[in-house]
Amino acid sequence: MDSSPPPAAIRRLGQNFLIDPNIVRKIVALAELSPADTVLEIGPGRGILTEALCRAAGHVTAIEVDPRLHTFLSERTAQLPNLTLLLGDALTHPIDHLPTGTIVVANLPYYISTPLLFRFLSQGNHFARMVLMLQNEVADRLVAKPRTSDYSVLSVTAQYSAHISKAFKVSPQCFRPRPEVDSAVVLLRAHEPRLRRPEEEQRFASLVRASFAHRRKTLVNSLRNEGYDSKQVEAALTRLHLSPSLRAETLTLEQFLALTRLLARIIHDW
Ligand code: SAM
Repeated sequence: MDSSPPPAAIRRLGQNFLIDPNIVRKIVALAELSPADTVLEIGPGRGILTEALCRAAGHVTAIEVDPRLHTFLSERTAQLPNLTLLLGDALTHPIDHLPTGTIVVANLPYYISTPLLFRFLSQGNHFARMVLMLQNEVADRLVAKPRTSDYSVLSVTAQYSAHISKAFKVSPQCFRPRPEVDSAVVLLRAHEPRLRRPEEEQRFASLVRASFAHRRKTLVNSLRNEGYDSKQVEAALTRLHLSPSLRAETLTLEQFLALTRLLARIIHDW
């Protein structure tokens, strides 16, 4: 291994490096890796997690955006035969070549954790499961249930794509530099998609976004402000035995799915 010192952390790139080997062990254990598995790591940084993943999995592809860390890690991991280290932005770098069933494991850069989550969740079950370190607050939104203040667009759209559990919290002391927020590790297991066609999924995503766009308004008013016809929304709610005065945060995932399907039929026949 090369012994040159690692490059200094750049906070704007979300560089809070894990320094606690116990947390690394817990993340790798949660991923339940075997030598038959392929792993995608986002943001390998100085490589503390990368090296543990390479010992547990068959192959690891890691995408790092910072060229200094990419060079540092290329030298440090030259002896790891099962690692492919890529320089690129994980939001846009092509990932289609990775085999179906690839497992995503990452201590995510927090400034883009939500768009990264949406990118990987939108790949259906191409990624079998994901073990992700996130801000604790984002982890709470991912697992939130209806009628709670954390229940949001992220909760509904993520729970549509995956079964999600919050595994454990991680203190800022486990990182250098320390992040200003608490962190948590979540496990997401991909579901079979319940809406068959991409345009149905698109309608569902738009409906959920529009429903939560004005949280304090009723669902009917929030949707009207976002361009939906309130008569059609009221007709759909009545047929689903739901009150027109309820708010988005009371609807379950199943009810959002039913509303998507029914509204599409009503709009078509209207
Ligand atoms: N995996 C390392 C660890 O656990 O110590 C580093 C985790 S650190 C929280 C996030 C890493 O993601 C940093 O290495 C950072 O440079 C990298 N990163 C930031 N933005 C990225 C992007 N758009 N694409 C890929 N990597 C990114």
